[in-house]
Formats: sequence, C-alpha cells, structure tokens
Amino acid sequence: MKLLFVILDGAGDAPSALETARTPHLDEIAQRSKGGMLFPIKGVAPESDQAMMALLGYSPYTYYTGRGPLEAYDAGVRFGEGDIVFRGNFSVIKNGIITEPSVEITEDVNAKLCALLNEKLDMTGVKFQTTKGYRFALVLSRRGLSSAVQNTHPGYAVIKNRVSTALEERTGAAPRICEPLDGSLEAKKTADLVNEITARVSTILQDNPTANYILLRGAGDSLPELPPAQGKWCMLADSHADATIGKLAGMHVHKKPESNAELAKKVVSLYLYDSVCVQIKSPDKYSHRKDFQGKVKALEEIDRDFFSVVKNIPGITIAITADHATSSALGAHTKDSVPICITSKKPDGTRRLSETACRKGSLGELDGSAMMETINKIENE
Ligand SMILES: [Zn+2]
Repeated sequence: MKLLFVILDGAGDAPSALETARTPHLDEIAQRSKGGMLFPIKGVAPESDQAMMALLGYSPYTYYTGRGPLEAYDAGVRFGEGDIVFRGNFSVIKNGIITEPSVEITEDVNAKLCALLNEKLDMTGVKFQTTKGYRFALVLSRRGLSSAVQNTHPGYAVIKNRVSTALEERTGAAPRICEPLDGSLEAKKTADLVNEITARVSTILQDNPTANYILLRGAGDSLPELPPAQGKWCMLADSHADATIGKLAGMHVHKKPESNAELAKKVVSLYLYDSVCVQIKSPDKYSHRKDFQGKVKALEEIDRDFFSVVKNIPGITIAITADHATSSALGAHTKDSVPICITSKKPDGTRRLSETACRKGSLGELDGSAMMETINKIENE
C-alpha cells in the first residue's frame, strides 16, 4: 500500500468538533504531516457523493449525474436506460411542516413501506425500492421523462449540472413542490408526475405511525462515466453512493466493517493495493441530529479504534480530510473549508487535524479537485 485516504464524513464544524475531541493518534499523524484547509467544491455546501467525486479528481460539474442513480446502483436497485431515479427519504410532516426529514426506521419497516406504496399506488412505471435506513429509490420508467427537475427535499437544491447545495432549511421547513429545471415538456411532465406521486403517497400514509411523507432529491437518468483511477485502488465506504463512485472508477469495493476496530484490521489486510480509500459516516450523522457531543465522541472512537492502528502501517502516505463541514448547530452541510493533513517526509509543524491548527499549515487553501495532485506532489518530495 502506498496511500491511505480517509474521508471523515462531515467532520468539519464550527465550533470545531475536531478541536474539541481528544485524538492523540490523529494528532500524531498530523505531526508527521503537512496541513491545510480544503474547499471540497468551492462555493457549494456539497452532498457527500459529489464531494467524493471532486476529491478523487472527477469534477462533479462534468461527471455528476444526480444522487438517485449513484445511491440506487450499489444498493442493487435495477434501472434501465431513460429511467429517472430519485433518492428518497421517509419523513414526517405535521401541519404542512417537515418535523422529521429522515425517520429512524429499520430496513424491515422501510421494505414494508415500499411494498405498501407499490401496491396501493399501482401506477405503471413507478416503483419504490428500499436502499438503506430511511432511504429508498424511486424509479420512474416511462417514456418522455427528464431528470431536469428540482428536489422536493427542502434541505437540498440542484444548482448546476445536477450538482446540488445543502440549504439550512431541513426540519421546520415546508416541502417543495417539484419544479422543472428547464423549459422542456419532458421536465414539466416529470415534475407533474412527482407531485402527483407525492400527493397520493401522503394520502396513503396519512395514518401511518412511522412516516407520513416522502422527500425526493437527486433525480438522475444515468450513471457517471468516470475515467479509471490510477493504480490499484480499494474502497471501503459507508454510503451506497460513494461505493458506486468507487465501482465506476474501476476500484475494488469491499464491504466496510461497521466497527472502527474491524475497519482498521481490514485496512491493514489490504496491503496489496496501491491506494485504499475509506469513508467513515459517523461524524456527519451526529451533526444532522444537532448532537455536537455525539460527534465529538464519534471522532474520539475513530481515533481510539482506527487511527491507533493504521498510523503504524509502514511506508505509506496517510491523507485525511472531510467531504464537507456539517454544522451541528444547524444540522446541515455548509460551504466552509475543512482541515486536511497529508503525511510527508518534510512535516510543516501542524499539530492537529483541526480547523485552527490546519489553517496555519503550509498547504494553504486547496480546492477539492487539487487533492490527488497535492498527494502526488508530497509523495514525490
Ligand atoms: Zn450529511
């Protein structure tokens, strides 16, 4: 192994969770590193999948096709050419306001909800399929549709070429009506269909105790065509969308163990790969719940069980950053830059992986798309 690239999902925060957490092993790696700050996608509060693409060197403005197909593909949801795939959340709405954008349900309950909707809706070419947790894929297989439609999830808006930005409104906002993003008949037809499905679903689920609404986002009609990553890569990712990106980039995607200790063991066993990319979701999850202490604890656990082991893998470069900042105060992704550390033969005196410490680092302010180039430069020093 030459490179271990770790993405701590949503680890950036203000006030800084990385600064608050006690992370002796991460500190040790930082002290062997050059530090800096990184904008995963400048000017955007990105979703994890498009940020992952940017960090691996694939401009999301060129390659991204929407979150729906990316998430559905790794989850085993089948869709054909011309189908429109959305990522959906089971949610709770009260008096027209979203009180829970993502409900806590088991995959079993999720599967039953999808089956119920497919049965009761009984609409040709409209299919709900469970993916993970509260998430599902909605596949529209009809002629003459378009993926150029806005999200109904009030927390994320498509801004350009299917790339979306997170907004501060999540809990406490009204859902959006689906709007076409261009003047085409196909986009109008798709938006109308989405609004019809949403209205009918809310009638079917009106007395359901766990979820009574659906929020849709990330419409896409194809998978990104990514040039293969350089060398032999392995990816271990918590989220389906990120795992799909790995697969499309020609990486071997292995199942990521749940526990950080098992994950460390797994990474150590992957020494035959040139590069290993690991995405760890837990910090982001706590931020969305506005649980700052939970996030700090999650970072401390990653340090204790994962970084304590991988820091000792001999002769490799370790690069650590986040795919975006997630504000625990707002419960939403933000545009802020995130700290980055890359181990180097010539460390620059960075003390910790945190916003305060990395701001003083020699890497300065990087753009997400410069990540791989920067790693290569440091490796060749
Ligand atoms: Zn998130």
